[in-house]
Parts: sequence; structure tokens; C-alpha cells
Amino acid sequence: MIIAKNLTKRYGKITALNNVSFTIEAGEAVALWGANGAGKTTTLRCLLGVQGFEGELTVNGINVSRNGKAARAAIGYVPQEAAFYDMTVLETLRFYARLKKTDPQRVNDVLEQVQLTAHGSKRVNMLSGGMKQRLALAVALLADPPVLVLDEPTANLDVKAQRDFIHTVQMLNQSGKTIVFSSHRLDEVIALGSRVIVLSDGELMLECRPHELAEKLGLHRWLRIWVATQHKENTLKVLDEQGFTYMPNGRSVYVQVNLGGKIAPLRLLEMASIPVEDFDLIDGELVIQEENHG
Ligand code: ATP
Repeated sequence: MIIAKNLTKRYGKITALNNVSFTIEAGEAVALWGANGAGKTTTLRCLLGVQGFEGELTVNGINVSRNGKAARAAIGYVPQEAAFYDMTVLETLRFYARLKKTDPQRVNDVLEQVQLTAHGSKRVNMLSGGMKQRLALAVALLADPPVLVLDEPTANLDVKAQRDFIHTVQMLNQSGKTIVFSSHRLDEVIALGSRVIVLSDGELMLECRPHELAEKLGLHRWLRIWVATQHKENTLKVLDEQGFTYMPNGRSVYVQVNLGGKIAPLRLLEMASIPVEDFDLIDGELVIQEENHG
């Protein structure tokens, strides 16, 4: 569905993308992963045909450089935060349906696809962040494109809205849409992605399955657990016996957990009758700050 060969994009002296090649099959859900400035947005903008680039890019068999408009027609695009006029949800969709010259009947279909049917008469300014993103998704679906491109679509959403949104995109993927999305969130890459393309300083660093990402990149997840001082010694003993990697820090202890196993240390302490006062989840490398021991 998408073939990129030696995709290169330079902004003056900055090389935002350097000879990046990848193929995305129809029906895949591919995540673009990388630090800020790695080239994710640039890759998506090339796909959309909204900027020039070197190399070759085809979307649905259409050469993007030669026929940007036709290639764009194969893509529905959802930005990180869409701007809408202050109309109702229905008016907004009818407006875009006219603009895109799609059958007005599509408005009801897409409303249903993003579960906004009950909110058609609400003004856009009254919608929650999650609903606004659903509306952006509905707009992207109007022309029924085979590909959906989403640039960090949940970056501004709370956890519940993020999960709901990702679930909706999962359904669309299951119904046959090819999905390309950028994300900083490991959990959603794992939930939605069938494959991850990792970019680093404009280069394709690796491609892997989502569940391999943390290990391949050396990413870790830590559970920080607070227990009362009198339980500290026993906590460390129990964690030690069960083979956890941990680091005590004042009244808390950092425990390294698997992506799917964040609850395991909590269950263990519960079984050992050690009351947990609080806990927190930390992604990535541990930076332990000194704290008062109390
Ligand atoms: P983020 O997660 O911050 O969105 P990203 O992976 O999407 O990062 P890009 O936005 O693609 O990264 O940027 C890649 C590189 O290109 C960066 O060094 C960025 O500063 C540079 N860049 C992007 N757009 C422009 C532009 N219009 N003019 C000049 N440099 C740009």
C-alpha cells in the first residue's frame, strides 16, 4: 500500500530524513517511533505529498511526487490537534463533505464509525478533547480512504480518552484500513501497532514487532512503590526472593517490571500482607532523585 525508497528530506543544512526505505502492506497498522526531531512528522508529511522530497514514494500505487493530489486522496489525515470552526458536529461534517465532494450520506456513516452519532448537534467548542479527536477522525474518513495517517493523535488526551480513541482506530484497522501513526506512548504502540519503524536522527534505525520495542531499545518500565518504614526490610526480602530487579530509595523502592506485568509486585506484596501506601509507574531510564529518608 505504501512503498518508500531512499526517502530523503533536507531543510537547508538539516537532513530531516536520510535514505529511509520501508514498505507497508495493505491492512497493516504501523507505528513510527523516535525521539523529538527523529523525522516522524517529516515522514508523514512526505506521505501526504505536502512537501517536496528526494527518493521515491508511492501510496496505493500512485507516485506521490508526480501525482500528489491523487495520492492524498488515498489518505485520511488526523493531526495531533485539529482546529475546527465553531459549528455543530453535524454542520462540521457536512461542511467537509461538501469540500471533499463526498456523498452527504457519508456523514451519518462516519459519525457512527467514531461513535459520535449521539453528539451530532453539539457545538465543537463544547466537545471534550477525545470527542474532538474523534471528529477529526470522522473528517478523515469522509472520503473512505484506504489509508489513515495519524500524527501523535492522542498526545493531548487523558488516559481514558486515549484508550477509547485507540480502540476506535483498532476497529477501523480490523475493517481493512491501513494505519500509519506516530506515537510516544509504548502502550498504544503495543495496543494498535502490528509493526514499528524506529527513526533516529532521520535514519531508519530498526523495524520490529511492537512487543519487542522495549527490549530492543533498552526501554524499561519501573514501578515505584511506597511502603511504611517498618515494612521496608520485608518488602525488599520478598522482592528479592521472587527475583525482581529493584532499587530502594528512601521510603520507596523502584521495581523493574515487564510491560504486561506491572501489577505483579503489588500482588506479591499483598500476598505477603505488606500494605502499599502509594505507587507510580515510570517509563524509560531511571533518574533517581535524592529524597528525605523518613
Ligand atoms: P516530534 O516528535 O518533535 O514531532 P519528529 O520525529 O516528528 O519530532 P520532525 O518534525 O520530522 O521530527 O523533524 C525532523 C528534523 O527536521 C528536526 O531536526 C526538525 O528540527 C527539522 N525540521 C522539521 N521541519 C522543519 C522545517 N519546516 N524547517 C526546518 N527544519 C525542520
